[in-house]
Amino acid sequence: MSVKTLRNFIGGRFEDGIRTFDKLNPANGELVARVHEASRDQVNAAVAAARQALPAWAALPVNQRTDYLVALADGIERRFDDFLAAEIGDTGKPVGWANQIDIPRGAANFKIFADVIKNVPTEAFEMATPDGAAALNYAVRKPRGVIAVVCPWNLPLLLMTWKVGPALACGNTVVVKPSEETPATATLLGEVMNAVGVPKGVYNVVHGLGPDSAGEFLTTHRGVDAITFTGETRTGEAIMAAASKGVRPVSFELGGKNAGIVFADADFDAAVDGIARAAFVNCGQVCLGTERVYVERPIFDRFVAALKQKAEATKPGLPDDRATGIGPLISKEHQQKVLSYYAKAKADGATIVTGGGVPKMPAALQEGSWIEPTIWTGLPETAAVVREEIFGPCCHIAPFDSEDEAVALANDTPYGLCTTVWTGNL
Ligand code: NAD
Repeated sequence: MSVKTLRNFIGGRFEDGIRTFDKLNPANGELVARVHEASRDQVNAAVAAARQALPAWAALPVNQRTDYLVALADGIERRFDDFLAAEIGDTGKPVGWANQIDIPRGAANFKIFADVIKNVPTEAFEMATPDGAAALNYAVRKPRGVIAVVCPWNLPLLLMTWKVGPALACGNTVVVKPSEETPATATLLGEVMNAVGVPKGVYNVVHGLGPDSAGEFLTTHRGVDAITFTGETRTGEAIMAAASKGVRPVSFELGGKNAGIVFADADFDAAVDGIARAAFVNCGQVCLGTERVYVERPIFDRFVAALKQKAEATKPGLPDDRATGIGPLISKEHQQKVLSYYAKAKADGATIVTGGGVPKMPAALQEGSWIEPTIWTGLPETAAVVREEIFGPCCHIAPFDSEDEAVALANDTPYGLCTTVWTGNL
C-alpha cells in the first residue's frame, strides 16, 4: 500500500501543516500516512473560514441546504471503496463490519439529518400572564454559529458525520478535529465537499493531537460558538474547562462501563450471541459495548461456558480475511493500556476463563496491536476491570440472585450510556 499524505482542509483548500506525524496501520505497524499537523495559526484560519462562510450558509433556504446534504451522502457512496480502504487502513477493522456499518451509516447521517431538519417545527404556545392577559410565546430555531467537532477513532466517519450532518443541516459551519489515529476519512470528505460544490469554509478539517495541539487550539478558540465532542470522559473534562471560557455550550458523548443483565428465562442462545457481539465486536472499542455481565445464578456456569466458546471462536485476523472475527486494537499505545488491565485482573485474583494476553500472529503481523478476547470471573465489584472503561474485547461475568440486585449492580457506575437486559419477561 502506498503511503498517503493527509493535509488540513481550510476554506476549501488542502494545506500543509507545521510538521507531520506518522499514522501506522494497527494490523502490521506499517506506515499508512504522513499527516500534516495544523499550527495554531491554521486552526485560527479554519475558524475564520468557517465564520466567513456562516452568514450565506445559514441564510440558504432549508431545501437548498438539504440538497447539499443529500449530494454529500451520494458523494460518499460514489467513492465507497476509497472511504472503505481509508477507514480500514486507519483502523484494521474487518471489511464486513466497515462496509455494513462505518461507511454506509457515515453517508446516511447526511440524509437522515436532511430529513430531520425539514420536519423540525417552530414551537408556539399561549400562556396567561399575571395580569390575566394572554401572551403568545414562540421559539425560533437559529443556527448556533461555528461548531468545533472533536472526534474519536473507533467509528471515525460514522461518529464524525453524526455531528457534522446535524450541524450543517441546521445552518452552522464546522471545524473538525479528527482523531490523530484516524485522520483519513475526514480528509477524504473534504474532497467530496469540493466535488459536490459545498461552499468553501462550511466544512474545515484540522489535524493534530489534543493538548497543546489542534484539539486544544480549537476548543479554547473564542471564535467557536459551541463544541461537540465524542471521546473519553477525562478528555471531556478538559474540554468542558476550555468551554467555560466564554461560557460556550458543549455536547458530549463520553465513555461507558456498560452492564448486560441476563435472566434465567431469557432466550439463552440469543443472549449469548448478543453479549458476545456487545463485548467483542470492533475489538471491544465501542462506547456502548458490554464490559460487565451479570447472569442469574441458575444459568451462570452454562452461560460462562457458552461465552467462552464464542470468545475462542472469535479469531483475530486481517480485515479482508473471511475467517476474521476481530481486527487489532487501534494502536500499540491502546494495546498497552488494555494489557495493563489484563495484568490488573490477574493481580486482583480473577479467574481467567479465556484469553488474557496477545494472540500468536503470523510473522507479517507481529508489529500489529493484537489482543485476545478475554473473559474473567470471580472479581469483587471494586476491581479495576469491573469499574473502569477498558475499551477492549473483554468482560467480567458475575452471578446475581434477584432482579433488585442486578439493577443495583448495573447502576453502580460513575458512567452513563447503556445497559442491556436479556429476559423472556420484559
Ligand atoms: P479521546 O478522548 O482520547 O480523544 C478524542 C478526541 O479528543 C481526539 O480527537 C483527541 O485528539 C481529542 N483530544 C484529546 N485531548 C484533548 C484536549 N485536551 N482538548 C481537545 N481535544 C482533545 O478518545 P478516544 O480514545 O479517541 O476514543 C475512545 C473514547 O471515546 C472511549 O472512552 C469511548 O467510550 C468514547 N466514545 C464514546 C461514544 C459515545 O457516543 N458516548 C462513542 C464513541 C467513543
